[in-house]
Amino acid sequence: MKSVIDIMKERTSFSFEVFPPKAEQPMEPLLNTLDELYQFDPDFISCTYGAGGSNAGRNVEICKAIADSGHRAVTHFTCIGNTKEKMKAELQAYLDNGVNHILALRGDLPAGWEGTRGDFNYANELVAFIRAEFGDQFTIAMAGDPEKHIQCPTFEEDIAHLKMKQDAGADYIMTQLCFDIEQFKRWVDQIRNAGITLPIDVGVMPVLNKDATIRMALSMNGCSIPRDLAEVISKYYNDPEGFKEAGIDYTVHQLYQFIGEGVEGIHLYALNKSAAVSEILTRSGLRTKAE
Ligand code: FAD
Repeated sequence: MKSVIDIMKERTSFSFEVFPPKAEQPMEPLLNTLDELYQFDPDFISCTYGAGGSNAGRNVEICKAIADSGHRAVTHFTCIGNTKEKMKAELQAYLDNGVNHILALRGDLPAGWEGTRGDFNYANELVAFIRAEFGDQFTIAMAGDPEKHIQCPTFEEDIAHLKMKQDAGADYIMTQLCFDIEQFKRWVDQIRNAGITLPIDVGVMPVLNKDATIRMALSMNGCSIPRDLAEVISKYYNDPEGFKEAGIDYTVHQLYQFIGEGVEGIHLYALNKSAAVSEILTRSGLRTKAE
C-alpha cells in the first residue's frame, strides 16, 4: 500500500480520526463505526494513543482492525512514560500488524507531571529515534499548531520547534483544530517563510455540540472562537438541535475554506460518531457513501 505522502502528491487526501473506548467499555460500537467510515473510502484512519500509554493495547487492536480491513491505519504515538526499549518493541509490533504510518507526538502531560517521565522530552527526539531505528519503514507525521502550542511562549519559538521535527525526518504535518481561517493562513505563511516545506494535513473538528465546542477550543487547546462561530453559539445557545444543524453547515464551510487554501489533506476528527460524519460528508458532497 502506498504512503499517504504519495497520495498527497496526487490530490487532497481525506481521512478520519477515532479514539479507543475506555478499558471497561466494549469495542463493538467503535468497530461498527469503523465499518460505516470505511464506506466513505478514506485514505487513512488514525487512532489516538492515551497519555502514558494507558490504552496502548486497545490502540494496537484498533489499528490492526483498520489495517486488516484493507485500509491504511495511522497510529498516534507519544513519548509519555516511554523508554527507548519499550518504544522500539511497540513500534516493531505496529509494523508486524501492518501499520507503517505514525503520528509522532510528545503527548499531553498528565495532570501534575513536569515532563514526560520517559527517555524523550520532545517529539523531535521521537521522530529522530524512529528514523534511526527503522529507517524509512514508517511514514511519519508530526503535530502542528496553527494557533501556537499552548505551552510555548511565542509563535517564533513554536515554529522553530516545528522545523526541528521536519529536520529530524518527519514527512508531513497534522494540525491541531483551528476554527479561525485567517489565523490558519497567517500560520501557513509563517511556517513556509521559516523553511517548513512539508505537506499540511489539516485537522477539522466537527461543530456539533455547543459545550463541547467551547471546551475543545478554550479549555483544552487555547484556540480562538472567531466571530462567525461565536454567532452560531449565541444564536443557538439554548437550542441544541438548531446548534447542531448550523454547526454542520459551519463545518462544511470550513472544509471548503481549507481546500480553497490548497492544503494537502483534510483530517476529520470523527469523534467515533459515524452519523454526524455521514451528514457532514453528504452535505459537502466531498465523499459519497458506498452502497
Ligand atoms: P512537541 O513538538 O514536543 O512540542 C511540545 C511543546 O514543547 C511545544 O510547546 C513546543 O513548542 C515545545 N518544544 C518542542 N521541542 C522543544 C525543544 N527541543 N526545546 C524546548 N521546547 C520544545 N496527545 C496524546 O496524548 N495522544 C494523542 O493521540 C494525540 N493526538 C493528537 C493528534 C493531533 C493531530 C494533534 C495536533 C495533537 C495530538 N495530541 C495527542 C496532543 C499532543 O500530544 C499535544 O499537543 C502535546 O502537548 C504536544 O505534542 P507535540 O508532539 O506537538 O510536542
